[in-house]
Amino acid sequence: MSEQQERAVSPAVRDHVDNYVGGQWTTPPGSESHPVVDPATREELATIEFSTVETVDEAVQIANEAFEEWRATPVVERVQYLFDLKSELEDRIDEISTALSREHGKTVAEARGEVHRGIENVEVACGMPNMLREGSGNVENVAPEMDEEAVRQPLGVFAAITPFNFPAMIPLWFLPYAVATGNTFILKPSEKVPLSSQLIFEAVDAVDFPDGVVNLVNGGADTVNALLEHDDIAGVSFVGSSPIAKHVYETAAQHGKRVQAQGGAKNYAVVTEHAELEAATPNITGSVYGNAGQRCLANDVVVGVGDVYDDLREQLIEAAENLTVGAGVDEDTDVGPLITGESRERVLNLIENAIDEGAELVLDGRDFEHPDGLDGHFLGPSLLEGVTTDMEIAQEEIFGPVLCLAEADDIDEAIEMVNSTKYGNASSIYTESGSEARQYRYAVDAGNIGINVGVCAPMGFFHFGGRKASFFGDLHAQGEDAVNFYTEKTIQIERWYS
Ligand code: NAD
Repeated sequence: MSEQQERAVSPAVRDHVDNYVGGQWTTPPGSESHPVVDPATREELATIEFSTVETVDEAVQIANEAFEEWRATPVVERVQYLFDLKSELEDRIDEISTALSREHGKTVAEARGEVHRGIENVEVACGMPNMLREGSGNVENVAPEMDEEAVRQPLGVFAAITPFNFPAMIPLWFLPYAVATGNTFILKPSEKVPLSSQLIFEAVDAVDFPDGVVNLVNGGADTVNALLEHDDIAGVSFVGSSPIAKHVYETAAQHGKRVQAQGGAKNYAVVTEHAELEAATPNITGSVYGNAGQRCLANDVVVGVGDVYDDLREQLIEAAENLTVGAGVDEDTDVGPLITGESRERVLNLIENAIDEGAELVLDGRDFEHPDGLDGHFLGPSLLEGVTTDMEIAQEEIFGPVLCLAEADDIDEAIEMVNSTKYGNASSIYTESGSEARQYRYAVDAGNIGINVGVCAPMGFFHFGGRKASFFGDLHAQGEDAVNFYTEKTIQIERWYS
């Protein structure tokens, strides 16, 4: 048992963040040290060192050296490590969720939910022997006595760069598929929330993957750029804001790599007079204010169509007023803090600008103060009405506990509003009318559509959609797309003379 495994029995939060390279825990030398901060208290939880270009180079070399042997390991053996990883992660759900809640601020229940969604991807990747078979194929006698087949092959070392808002789930969108397909892997998690990855890698360490197959490199922008530019990285998965997703897409592609880069979002929900309002209201409230709004699937603009508006408005205000704001680790909390003071300021500015542009702030969470005096980056739930698509707040991602109410005369106008943004991550409609739902899912230009579902996060065996400025690339995360992203189908044509 390594030193880190022994630490796994101690309280969830680690006070120092290490890299994990070649099966060893290491502190990157010669690098800057940064604090990891609890957003509910502003207390320093741990320190993290940012890996330099040299450290990244060493990790890539080690992962590259591990590739040939790992590739030659039968897929049925490779997935045994994932079966073990699933049970190691399950044993650590409480510990990971607690650390996640401390470093991110979301509630422990939300953290547990996300860890489960991450583990779901490990489960799906355990089926890789079958997944690899699909899309491969063999045709006999393509010419006299010639057979042709397409065989999936892994490509080498893949890197994943992940955001702060789902510190456990998003790394697990990539790690299981990359290694099950026979590649080796390097994770660079968000420097704001590195503790969840520490704990996930303690589970990786316990599984005892061959050295160099699964690696963790901590750091910031320079660390990312070193990965994007490294000759021995075959491909890069990214999740984060759209400007950085575009940068990652362009830089990695320029360096000859495969790239899938998921960006930011602006997700509208539409509620028609055929909606079951009693069911829709808690669903919308969870989507907008859950995770303190820091969710790429949050429906932060809600359009009431026609006569439904007044009742919808009343119910949403009442539901938002009943939410409890506090530290994620407190049992009563519904809405945790924002990740940083800077994020909080950004959201406050968006609210101010919306008021200047003519929206009305009917629920004001700006001056929220924690009853026990916690000095975190809190904002109470806010609700703006009279929001129109020409306002900044109707076009830019909010990433905070703010709901914008807008009105449309009919569903055609509502769909036009939904499609007015540059993003195309997700959108939801609340209706019991099949024809309205059908019109909506046909006409809305978004990669994930919810019908009476406010957080339309696909299961691991489906790809995670995303269009327009929400996605840069061709093949998405999860499911069959992940298998295609992590493998190349080689054509093999054969003829035998004796
Ligand atoms: P971010 O873009 O600031 O950071 C994401 C990653 O990029 C981090 O690992 C960070 O270290 C790295 N990074 C930051 N600046 C960089 C730079 N200049 N050069 C190279 N790398 C850099 O995003 P965030 O604030 O951590 O996450 C929130 C964003 O992620 C939101 O926009 C949200 O919508 C998006 N997101 C999208 C999805 C999706 O599925 N589309 C899912 C979750 C989050």
